[in-house]
Amino acid sequence: MSISEFDLIDRYVAGATAGRDDVALGIGDDCALLRPPPGQILAVSVDTLVAGRHFFPNVDPESLGHKSLAVNLSDLAAMGATPAWATLALTMPTADEHWLEAFMAGFSALAAEHRVQLVGGDTTRGPLSVSVQVHGFVAAEAALRRSGGQIGDWLFVSGTLGDAALALRQVHDGEVGRVQKQRLERPIPRVALGILLRRFASAAIDVSDGLVSDLGHLCHASGVGACLALSNLPLSNAVATACANGDWELPLAGGDDYELLFSVPPDRVGAMRAACAEAGHRVSAVGRFIDDSGIRLIYPDGNESKEVPGGFDHFRD
Ligand code: ADP
Ligand code: MG
Repeated sequence: MSISEFDLIDRYVAGATAGRDDVALGIGDDCALLRPPPGQILAVSVDTLVAGRHFFPNVDPESLGHKSLAVNLSDLAAMGATPAWATLALTMPTADEHWLEAFMAGFSALAAEHRVQLVGGDTTRGPLSVSVQVHGFVAAEAALRRSGGQIGDWLFVSGTLGDAALALRQVHDGEVGRVQKQRLERPIPRVALGILLRRFASAAIDVSDGLVSDLGHLCHASGVGACLALSNLPLSNAVATACANGDWELPLAGGDDYELLFSVPPDRVGAMRAACAEAGHRVSAVGRFIDDSGIRLIYPDGNESKEVPGGFDHFRD
């Protein structure tokens, strides 16, 4: 390496994010020293992105910096937690300063939006891979668990579904749409929505592996079944066009959406909708929890089916 690991950290990483008052000691010692606020519990999550598996090795490093933090913030959002701190474990084949500078620019811009301070990490040489751990705060009783859903609760999803998966399809076909590229490479974690939903949702999850797969996790944890009305799925024009031939794989099984899927008791739906409208969050009612096992899909023509395309599973090649 032309530049040492220590110089790399000093130059590009150590000052990359703004300081927070609850960080007693950040990057530079053996551990960070952090002060969680009294009365709140820590919400902690880690995600790894591996070159060739989760992203194309030649992806724009600034977008990768954004996405590696975004996918983690999405997990905090799904818990209703307020983001605070992050750690970053970077494995790189070479000490490429231009790459690291761009990566950190993407990471830091999103960190600044959410007042996240990077407080530590690790830097090693090897095949390109990025692990980010995030820490957030939430009052114990307000955390949005997967297990709180009840029969009769309405199911909502934020944003639109299937655009990131459409981008991957388009890569194979040669031309990726602007919106789809943005959705794949720069997902927007629904942090503010997650915090708002503390007051309304009975259960929540972020849609990272595909709607049906992640709904399956909610159902399993809550001990309920679900019905999904496909005509109510929020779709961009491009995804709607792709579904027009009856193939619903993109919105049902496409991964990487990073939208929130959540359940709301019937008597809270009106207030939730009003709060979301006021805050500018798009949410769509897509189904309900039912007294059944599994997930029932209701097609626009009224046909019902329990046969659903599965979500993305890393170990199912
Ligand atoms: P140690 O050998 O004690 O683990 P390191 O030399 O790995 O220490 O790291 C020195 C300091 O730099 C530590 O505070 C560590 O948290 C921080 N650090 C190293 N790599 C990164 C990184 N990629 N992102 C953020 N902080 C990092
Ligand atoms: Mg170390």
